[in-house]
Amino acid sequence: MTSTADATADPVDLLVVGAGPAGVAAALMAASLRMRVTLVEAAGVGSKVAAIGALENVPGGWTTGPQLAEAFAADIARHRESGRLTLVRARATAVKGHDDRAEVALADGELLTAATVVVATGVTTLTPQDVDWVEAPTGPRVPPLWRAAPEEVAAREVVVLGADRPLGTWLRAHPHTDTRFRVLHPAHDTYKTAEVAEDRRVRFDLVERVRIAPRPGGGYDIAAHHPDGTSHPATADALLANLGSKPAALDGLVTGPDGYCPPDAQHPRVLVAGDLKGARMQRIAVALGDGGRAALTPYYGSLGDGSLALR
Ligand SMILES: Cc1cc2nc3c(=O)[nH]c(=O)nc-3n(C[C@H](O)[C@H](O)[C@H](O)COP(=O)(O)OP(=O)(O)OC[C@H]3O[C@@H](n4cnc5c(N)ncnc54)[C@H](O)[C@@H]3O)c2cc1C
Repeated sequence: MTSTADATADPVDLLVVGAGPAGVAAALMAASLRMRVTLVEAAGVGSKVAAIGALENVPGGWTTGPQLAEAFAADIARHRESGRLTLVRARATAVKGHDDRAEVALADGELLTAATVVVATGVTTLTPQDVDWVEAPTGPRVPPLWRAAPEEVAAREVVVLGADRPLGTWLRAHPHTDTRFRVLHPAHDTYKTAEVAEDRRVRFDLVERVRIAPRPGGGYDIAAHHPDGTSHPATADALLANLGSKPAALDGLVTGPDGYCPPDAQHPRVLVAGDLKGARMQRIAVALGDGGRAALTPYYGSLGDGSLALR
């Protein structure tokens, strides 16, 4: 990464990367404390929660993700008007902590500087290329189940790869959709199937390996190999990925063996919050608290020994 001499924006007190629950909470907390904040977001404020159809565990009476995402956007807009918060629509690629500052590099080459950075980039969806039990050609991209609209999958033979938890969320969010899902999943996903086992729209198929080939006229040929040694060919009009997720870590973050970013292992000026911290505790309420806490860390640090202020 280049030095601050190449920086193209004024340094701020706090840079936040990712405008999910953790990043939004961090940015709002900092702005409310009169810190100068820049929030960097690649997709849109609350882009992930906006795709969650049904919510029942977020305090405040929120019952759908889109409602919550709209409220986040309104909060950010209010603080932008105050002049203390800047929203930058960009993809961050790397983060680096120095003795006197922290830097975030953007995909277009711009370098942003702050006293402290909070990285709250969450997790990203695994693709068939990321897992060893699926053999699939690169492209066309297999869309994730959790972002699929009911009309996209209505009245078709839909095969879902993987039995990760978003399957239950999708079915609860669309109780009147009569789509039939054939879910091909490996043994390590079996324990997740219990919560939707009663739903007549789902048929589970335990597999060891799956090979997928796009058909010239559209759709897919699928060869499913089962643990008992048998294999069955099938076709699908639509294919959806439900394979789990992986941390969306920026270059420069310290990662553990599982790819997540333990907060204690990072540079003191680089804080991580929300889902990026670890595979457990991935919940909106946890991310909100985490983001607020991350913003308070440099605030109390700079009021105390000044160690995290810009020198
Ligand atoms: C289908 C589904 C259903 C769920 N249901 C629930 C539920 O009912 N209740 C619950 O509590 N939790 C639920 N969750 C989990 C919840 O969504 C997460 O725990 C929460 O969103 C984590 O917040 P976060 O801020 O850490 O990350 P995210 O919400 O993932 O936000 C990260 C943000 O960072 C941005 N970003 C990523 N990389 C970059 C980059 N390089 N540069 C710039 N921006 C970047 C992304 O665009 C995104 O906006 C669900 C998740 C899914 C997928």
